[in-house]
Amino acid sequence: MQTTSEKSLQLGPALKIGVLGGGQLGRMMIQSAIDLDVRVEVMDPSADAPCRHLTHRFVQGDLNDADAVFAFGKDLDVITIEIEHVSVPGLRRLERNGVRVVPKPDHLDVIQDKGTQKVFFEQHGIPTAPFVLVETASQAGDKGFPIVQKLRRGGYDGKGVQILNNHTDATSRAFDAPCVLEDAVDIHKELSVIVARNASGKTASFPVVESVFNPEANLVDYLIAPADIGSDTAAEAQSLALRVVEALNFEGLLAIELFLDQTGQLLVNELAPRTHNSGHHTIEANRTSQFEQHLRATLNLELGSTAPVHPFGAMVNLVGSREAMGTPVYRGLSHAMKQPGVHPHLYGKSQVKPFRKMGHVTVTAETRAEAIELVMVLREQLAVDGMSD
Ligand code: ADP
Repeated sequence: MQTTSEKSLQLGPALKIGVLGGGQLGRMMIQSAIDLDVRVEVMDPSADAPCRHLTHRFVQGDLNDADAVFAFGKDLDVITIEIEHVSVPGLRRLERNGVRVVPKPDHLDVIQDKGTQKVFFEQHGIPTAPFVLVETASQAGDKGFPIVQKLRRGGYDGKGVQILNNHTDATSRAFDAPCVLEDAVDIHKELSVIVARNASGKTASFPVVESVFNPEANLVDYLIAPADIGSDTAAEAQSLALRVVEALNFEGLLAIELFLDQTGQLLVNELAPRTHNSGHHTIEANRTSQFEQHLRATLNLELGSTAPVHPFGAMVNLVGSREAMGTPVYRGLSHAMKQPGVHPHLYGKSQVKPFRKMGHVTVTAETRAEAIELVMVLREQLAVDGMSD
């Protein structure tokens, strides 16, 4: 006899999946869900969420409110997420009521807090930057300088992360909340590996991705796969990612963010228990996209092949220009689309703001040089400005 969690669920319109979060990740998940003919229902705090008009049922609600999460999910077959900051007690209640919840509430509990993530890595011998946990700003100097200070909860996209170089920084601008103080890593490359694991314990990982950051926007500038690292480092990154997945006994899709330091050592930075910015190129560049894979893992279906269908895939974010406000105007897109291997994905956000993620463009190419050249051209050509209403 199969247990409920081992069973794959019967595909078709009777299968109801709820997604907590209705942003761009949910939107791209819906595109894959359409192909499996499953019914997707979405909850998001914003009445204007990108999924709003693309779902069978949209509920506006607070994702951190246990009662709201329970009310949203109680009649559904499966609940998954596109953002990790959701009510774990609400999900536990749903699970107790027989709703299949993927990823597991226990895993979200560990991952929602950067402090418990770090302790988890330490306890399981997963290499990570040395750290201490502190409660208040007055302890921000406790581990010396320079130090990376990270809010344990609620940070995203680099907000909630800052470098403190000296006592003056610590006294003038340290976060006054429970934080991780982490040694500053001398980073050579930022990498990520996305691994899917289904309830039967089968795993599949995508090739290692390399992210290049834009310090001004504090967002990924572009990313490219496969990463330009030696085959030994790539194999090590893959096995480290799998170790994390197995140590957690994870179910669903897990993005493992890694640093490769200047000495060649790999360190796990943090985890995202969902589809991830560093997997967007897989829609065009791999046999199975991360969005389809997420659904396959969530529904305990066979996992798809992650093999590349183009030698290189790259992705550039489309973010609002420095002063953009109002209705978005996408400049340069139709010209850019004349180039082979260029695919836009706009997220359907009604308002642009400076540096807000509005979409991305994927590039597929035969060589790494060609992919990067195209990315550079796109960065010159593309802009998201605003038009006042
Ligand atoms: P977020 O969850 O907001 O994305 P991260 O922990 O990924 O936060 O940190 C954001 C960025 O800050 C990283 O991508 C990296 O560039 C830099 N960073 C984070 N931790 C360290 C560290 N220990 N040493 C050096 N840089 C770091």
